[in-house]
Amino acid sequence: MNQVSYANIVAAAQALQGVAHRTPVLRSRQADAASGAQLHFKCENFQRAGAFKFRGAYHALSRFDATQRLRGAVAFSSGNHAQAVALAARLLAMPAVIVMPGDAAPAKLEATREYGAEVVLYDRFAEDRAAIAQRLVRERGATLVPPFDHPDVIAGQGTVGKELFEETGPLDYLFVCVGGGGLLAGCALAAAELSPGCKVIGVEPQAGNDAQLSLRSGAIVRIPVPQTIADGAQTTAVGELTFPIMQRLVSDIVTVGDAQLRAQMRFFAERMKIVVEPTGCLAAAAVMNRVVDIRGRRVGVVVSGGNVDVARLGG
Ligand SMILES: *Cc1c(COP(=O)(O)O)cnc(C)c1O
Repeated sequence: MNQVSYANIVAAAQALQGVAHRTPVLRSRQADAASGAQLHFKCENFQRAGAFKFRGAYHALSRFDATQRLRGAVAFSSGNHAQAVALAARLLAMPAVIVMPGDAAPAKLEATREYGAEVVLYDRFAEDRAAIAQRLVRERGATLVPPFDHPDVIAGQGTVGKELFEETGPLDYLFVCVGGGGLLAGCALAAAELSPGCKVIGVEPQAGNDAQLSLRSGAIVRIPVPQTIADGAQTTAVGELTFPIMQRLVSDIVTVGDAQLRAQMRFFAERMKIVVEPTGCLAAAAVMNRVVDIRGRRVGVVVSGGNVDVARLGG
């Protein structure tokens, strides 16, 4: 069964109970003033391993059968999914092999190894990471855990939205960043159940607006690897599972530029005293720059991760 429903999100929440953090929902007077709306920031930068990815990864691995647990998990990822699968595997006492780009942030490579996973490096612009991962699956009998296009992963990410609405009650808008759409699809399913009138808006980098093109054209659009500081959203296409959910439940996809992401990182650090990585700033940058008219509205904003490589931050 490839369908994902709200019931799967409830099951994921049970699996994550006492394992994942129930992350805080922060408010900011300055952010409200700048946006003209009432903003509720769901802060997954405080999640274990630094991003919401832990939710989907742990939920997926927790559903492995005995043989799968023995052979372990394989994942390919530009970073946060890697750390998430590595940590989830360690907690569930199973092996993990992670296929990562050689130019991934050194802090992310290091963290993945520190969680006890084996790391296999590849060239992001020349090699097919999916093919490398498939070879590992064949050779070792391990189970591939995709970063977004898997029902258990989507359900796990949906617990972000579930927790947010449980805390805030119904909202007028929910803004969520988009890479492959696992987080957006999961949160849209939670919104449809818990806040049916809420408009769900995806946000992606200007340089890689494939989800926007896909939603507007009605078919999945593939693009070359986009050049953006939002490294968690450098996907080249949304998923076969995530896209139909987006088509059904997402109102629109908007974009923000790298300069807006840099300004948003600075706002979070200086005004709200939180560390948010560029990709984690996408949704917030859209509302703070009033890309959509949200004046006077109650708005949820997902802050997806906080794994910043300080060495790369520069001035
Ligand atoms: C993976 C990731 C995203 C994108 O999530 P998708 O489910 O692929 O859309 C956004 N932000 C951060 C911090 C991520 O790690």
